[in-house]
Amino acid sequence: MPLFRTRALVLKVHYLSDTDKLVTFFTERYGKVKAVAKGARRLKSRYGASLEPLTLVSLIYFGKEHQDLFRVNQCDIVSFHQEIRDSLDTFFYALYFIELLDSLTAEGHCDTEVFAFATASLEALNPEQNPELLCRIFELRLLSLLGYRPRLEQCVKCRKFPRSHWVGFSYNSQGIFCAPCLEGNPVEARIKLGTLQYLKRLLTHDLQRWTRLKIPKDTEQELEQFTHRLVLARLGRELKSYPLLKQMTQST
Ligand SMILES: [Zn+2]
Repeated sequence: MPLFRTRALVLKVHYLSDTDKLVTFFTERYGKVKAVAKGARRLKSRYGASLEPLTLVSLIYFGKEHQDLFRVNQCDIVSFHQEIRDSLDTFFYALYFIELLDSLTAEGHCDTEVFAFATASLEALNPEQNPELLCRIFELRLLSLLGYRPRLEQCVKCRKFPRSHWVGFSYNSQGIFCAPCLEGNPVEARIKLGTLQYLKRLLTHDLQRWTRLKIPKDTEQELEQFTHRLVLARLGRELKSYPLLKQMTQST
């Protein structure tokens, strides 16, 4: 039976029995993979803390290709991301990141770019900085990398660049409508042209320098509403980690 070796991010862990865990990984070389870790629930498990969500691991697993469930052979911690876990703020954002990644991806589609982006985003979380803008970058870029980039440049109907002070946005068409084209094309949201420029910047801004982005507070809220609806339109449901994240950000 073939062995697969790869770095991986632990996304989710379920208890399968009194002794075993079912672990969802996002791997660098094989995309999302589910694998059973035999004996992982035992007190003296050889996996130690390596199967905790958020952990970056060096993974060896086996099984037949194209089958649903694999078996974990070996799993060693590359980074436990202790600094993220030490702050409730970064911890909740990180949980949201990995739940979003898990929800938007299917098993068995290799995507090294998504893996690199997800791990870099976790590393960019910093307890000293409010992670809201990083979260916006994460949502928009992840959607784009997976082929769901919203069309923000030209009106999806007439292909012209918008000239009015605001544009309409249709979550159904995943794109903007200029003011003259709105007639007969109901849209769910209106976006100010200034906010649209910020959205475009978030899509291209250097991830490592995200703390240099300066966005007015009210625009930040608009951006949050926009990306949240974009995610909802794609998934058709709310993520479990989202209300927790909102609760935490509103109480601080
Ligand atoms: Zn138009």
